Amino acid sequence: MKPANSILSSFGTTIFETMSRLAVAHGAVNLGQGFPEGLEPAAVVARAAAEHARGPHQYPSMMGIPALRAAVAGHEAAFHGLDVEPAEVMVTSGATEALAACFFGLIEPGDEVVLIEPLYDSYLPIVRRAGGIPKLVRLEPPHWTLPREDLEAAFSPRTKLLVLNTPTNPAGKVYDGDELAVIAGLLERFDAYAVCDEVYEHLVYDGRRHVGLATLPGMRRRCLKVGSAGKIFSLTGWKVGWVVAPADLLAPVAKAHQFLAFTTAPGLQAAVAWGLETQGATIAGLAGVLEKRRDRLAAGLAEIGFAVLPTGGSYFLTADFSPLGFCDDDHAFCRFLTEKAGVAAIPVGAFYQGEAPDHYARFCFAKTDAAIDEALARLDRFFGG
Ligand code: PMP
Ligand code: GLN
Repeated sequence: MKPANSILSSFGTTIFETMSRLAVAHGAVNLGQGFPEGLEPAAVVARAAAEHARGPHQYPSMMGIPALRAAVAGHEAAFHGLDVEPAEVMVTSGATEALAACFFGLIEPGDEVVLIEPLYDSYLPIVRRAGGIPKLVRLEPPHWTLPREDLEAAFSPRTKLLVLNTPTNPAGKVYDGDELAVIAGLLERFDAYAVCDEVYEHLVYDGRRHVGLATLPGMRRRCLKVGSAGKIFSLTGWKVGWVVAPADLLAPVAKAHQFLAFTTAPGLQAAVAWGLETQGATIAGLAGVLEKRRDRLAAGLAEIGFAVLPTGGSYFLTADFSPLGFCDDDHAFCRFLTEKAGVAAIPVGAFYQGEAPDHYARFCFAKTDAAIDEALARLDRFFGG
């Protein structure tokens, strides 16, 4: 047998799938994979049922149904004050496809791509498969401070684009205005683009505000913003996402999208369009609900003995497990926790290349109070009892 593509085959099955399978096998409470529980808005789900009953059921336009393109443009205006034309929106099958379309559409083999670790798992394989040369910059726990000199050193005249994820997975870091201004300055200086992964744009806590890079002066023409209805409506299985970008940047990305997914289920697009138009209060209220869940999980983990890091956004909190006296690394810890304590988490090292912080676990708090309480009770029995 001739070998398969060496770049993709060098990556294993994603850590999220791996840990979810392990959680099922051991009956563990799954605080690993990032999907919410008990937050699906009934009205949006009912709308999808009605849209599906009504149809149509055939291929929609590859750019997305007009109602959703208009609704995404309206969402950018309402929440971020951006003046976006529906023609600057392309609907994708989730943010994952949107990211892949951006990378395949923009990267020319040999282009440099600045990536900030810890990294969401789909970036690196696709950047490399597209022929990009990754230039990695590292944020480290517990403070996740942006190392400005390293960031500047990662840029060169060959930099095609930077990938910016804010609020970040897994760190829960929400980039502030100063950091964004530094990034904007580098993009200008090196004439580069930014793929802005803002899937957690509404999930910011403690009065913080999410600021998209595209809202900074001069940045709109350099930014491709990636959004996800899965996160906005707590419906991750729907896989409806989008790219918002000026027409000249969107055109090459559409070339990739037409050969990746081409289009997305029309009934789901219509329901998401309706949701964006009518469910503003639900969208704006989600952070308040999740903030309470974050606090519930953080307090419980701290009581058990974890050193819990602050998290300003996303579904995730990071906890240092070294105070519990576990001597092996984070992969071993998460496996052990799932199999022996019945609670699944994700090793933070999985979001880094090579040598990585090895005593932190990521816990997803977007779960029901009952699931959080059950997980905490199990951990308490295991470590405390
Ligand atoms: N980016 C980040 C940072 C994520 O955490 C995720 C996973 N939920 C995605 C992109 C993918 O989103 P989607 O499910 O819409 O493909
Ligand atoms: N984004 C989710 C997480 O970080 C998982 C998505 C996936 O499983 N591909 O857990």
